[in-house]
Amino acid sequence: MRENIIFRCTVCGEENYIGDKNKKNHPERVEILKYCPRCNKKTTHKEKK
Ligand SMILES: [Zn+2]
Repeated sequence: MRENIIFRCTVCGEENYIGDKNKKNHPERVEILKYCPRCNKKTTHKEKK
């Protein structure tokens, strides 16, 4: 079962990316390094719940 998730910048809180994940394979929260336009740099983005 796949679920849509929103990735939110941990620095400014902006919601920059939408993705999905397989809950069975990744039950834990996902963290990715992505470019944030508001911070104007790469920041850690965490799954919003
Ligand atoms: Zn940011």
